[in-house]
Amino acid sequence: CGIVGYIGHRDAYPILIKGLQRLEYRGYDSAGIALFDGENLSLSKTKGKVEDLKNRAETTISTNGKLGLGHTRWATHGVPNDTNSHPHYSNSGDLVIIHNGIIENYGSIKTALAKRGYTFTSDTDTEVLVNLIEEVKKKEGVKLGKAVQIALNQVVGAYAIAVFDRTKPDEIVVAKLGSPLAIGIGENEYFIASDASPFIEFTNNAVYLEDEEMAIVRIGKEIKMRKIKDDAIA
Ligand code: GLU
Repeated sequence: CGIVGYIGHRDAYPILIKGLQRLEYRGYDSAGIALFDGENLSLSKTKGKVEDLKNRAETTISTNGKLGLGHTRWATHGVPNDTNSHPHYSNSGDLVIIHNGIIENYGSIKTALAKRGYTFTSDTDTEVLVNLIEEVKKKEGVKLGKAVQIALNQVVGAYAIAVFDRTKPDEIVVAKLGSPLAIGIGENEYFIASDASPFIEFTNNAVYLEDEEMAIVRIGKEIKMRKIKDDAIA
């Protein structure tokens, strides 16, 4: 299982696909990508190989966009199928997430969210997490980084996640506990990945998140690193 992400001035699609291929050694049963071109969000995901994803994406969606996330899934909650593959959207359609790992207490969070009107299209723990982040963001009126932090403090489990908000497409928020996560720093561009292999050809400048660390990766800004358990996050 692996994650990749890109935000910057290049087309994200080829970087994400090549990156996912370099992470294939980690093992997986499904693959998917989400791309945002400034106006439209396009999503393609499939059970099977990255090659299958490539064939599907190139025949069914617009592969434009300088912001995107890619994922290879090793199913833990919900069978391997197209619907359960990542990325997952929040109910509003604004938040997009990829996740490696397990949210152990997803059942009780899912029940609580369902009572408050949230619906779910997949059987994954991941779709519960992205909706928890959305609920926190709306209820607390906070920015995405803060919402991710508050949500993760309610979660028991292991994760490497990357999330973006299509209404604020200049940043990706990432966090790690138990699963690996690296950020590659380029010139006016950032790469996210499970290890450095997806971005090694673009930059030698990499930051590896520690467990319980998160980062707000925003175009034109330095990376903001935070402890998930700290209070102070803007
Ligand atoms: N628990 C998540 C799922 O089953 C992520 C699995 C993974 O690490 O790929 O969808």
